[in-house]
Amino acid sequence: MKLVQTGADPRLAGGRLSVDLAALAANWRDLARRSKPARCAAVVKADAYGLGVEHVVPVLLSAGCETFFVALPEEGVAVRRIAPRADIFILNGVHDMSAATLVEANLIPILNSLEQIELWARHCGQRGLRSPCAIGVDTGMNRLGLTVGEALAFRERNMSEHLVSPVMVMSHLACADDPAHPLNDKQRESFQRVAVAFDDIDSSFANSAGIFLGGNYLHDLTRPGIALYGGCASVEGKTPMRPVISLDARIVQVREATEGETVSYGATQALSRDTKIAVVAVGYADGYPRAGSGAGVPLRGAVPDGQQGQIGGVRVPLIGRITMDLTLFDVTDVPDEALEDGWIELIGPNIPLDEAAKAAGTIGYELLTGLGPRYERRYLNADES
Ligand SMILES: *Cc1c(COP(=O)(O)O)cnc(C)c1O
Repeated sequence: MKLVQTGADPRLAGGRLSVDLAALAANWRDLARRSKPARCAAVVKADAYGLGVEHVVPVLLSAGCETFFVALPEEGVAVRRIAPRADIFILNGVHDMSAATLVEANLIPILNSLEQIELWARHCGQRGLRSPCAIGVDTGMNRLGLTVGEALAFRERNMSEHLVSPVMVMSHLACADDPAHPLNDKQRESFQRVAVAFDDIDSSFANSAGIFLGGNYLHDLTRPGIALYGGCASVEGKTPMRPVISLDARIVQVREATEGETVSYGATQALSRDTKIAVVAVGYADGYPRAGSGAGVPLRGAVPDGQQGQIGGVRVPLIGRITMDLTLFDVTDVPDEALEDGWIELIGPNIPLDEAAKAAGTIGYELLTGLGPRYERRYLNADES
């Protein structure tokens, strides 16, 4: 089992983020199988959802992935260095300051408005280039993309005027994580009209959750992100994907406190019994959200129980407010031998990513992309992926 260590010095770091690269590869293969007959790409924006493109992209390439999506030009340049022959799409499109970078690194912008199409046509035309692009169409999210009407009219116009050279048309689902939502069907029908009009190029529609909708949602190329990284793509909260990350924190100190005393800032939580407290070296500056603070801590209403940890086979509740660099857990019920190990699981085999996210009133996406630079990072199974 090959182990690659990066990030903070493992002897000194307050937290340890482990990434199972074999699970990542298995998840991509699983999603590729579910995507058939469509091809399966990978969304690696935001530094591969916080896990590091320099580790994630090589694994996906060797699993067979040939197409990548990122949000920003510089993210595309970083992927290009690792994947010289891959197709790399830029979700956020092009603006006048980014066109040259896109051409130079052979990145494919998803043109999301008529203005962006004009800009790309002008930039490439002036240089005698036929650089590839994709056309983004909004079918119900009101975020990025031409309207369906604009896309169909553009198709007609481009046939005669050859403004740009699209290689793909795409749209994005707003509610794919909720299979019963009526907007899914509506978007599918709208996008079908677009895909038929652009029938000589690829169409791409499904994110992770869209792949699970299957059938007519798959089109030619799927674009999973969160499911690759083991996150849940369904409002039902269950995922068949393998977990990819675990997060463990170093116990800095174990202290004894007396019933009735209070813990952490604001003295928001009074102890209901004599309590053994583990003080743990991960806080909100590490992307462990303050909103996951412990039971009875008044800073939100969503999930009143807050985060939990796991140590020595025991689930332990977080107590008091999460602070910048430190977090407190009630470890009264944990045997002393287990505490001597010096580490506590915050996310991992016992505490799924999505459960930890929910306890902080957020989603796996936000938790993953927020995990900061202070962790030791362990990339496991680089050789088995
Ligand atoms: C982020 C993103 C994806 C990936 O979505 P997941 O839900 O993470 O699978 C796909 N398509 C677009 C347009 C996106 O912005």
